[in-house]
Amino acid sequence: MKYCKNCGKEIDDKAVICVYCGVKTGDEEHTKKINGLGIAGFVVSILSLWLGVYFCIASIIGVVLSAVAMVLKAKYNSCNGLAIAGLVIGIVSLVVWAIIWIAAASLIAALV
Ligand SMILES: [Zn+2]
Repeated sequence: MKYCKNCGKEIDDKAVICVYCGVKTGDEEHTKKINGLGIAGFVVSILSLWLGVYFCIASIIGVVLSAVAMVLKAKYNSCNGLAIAGLVIGIVSLVVWAIIWIAAASLIAALV
């Protein structure tokens, strides 16, 4: 059991509105909906900065995960910032590694 913040009477744990005074218990506001994809995208993007040896695959996964997390961010109220950060870092990582791989490929081509 819990107590109503307005009238102090004992109400059901799951009650959204107090049955005695009709005031909202406000518990739904406390539910955190963590944007897990945002965290995943951010982590993969960070890792991709060091994983360029795998032909930018990690960067692409990071960008895709973050982009999906961005699209779904309206559903969540926590960790949405990580989705944005993941997207930016993923794109930077993709561009940096793309340049490195293109440079490496032209160097190898020039040597051969
Ligand atoms: Zn009440």
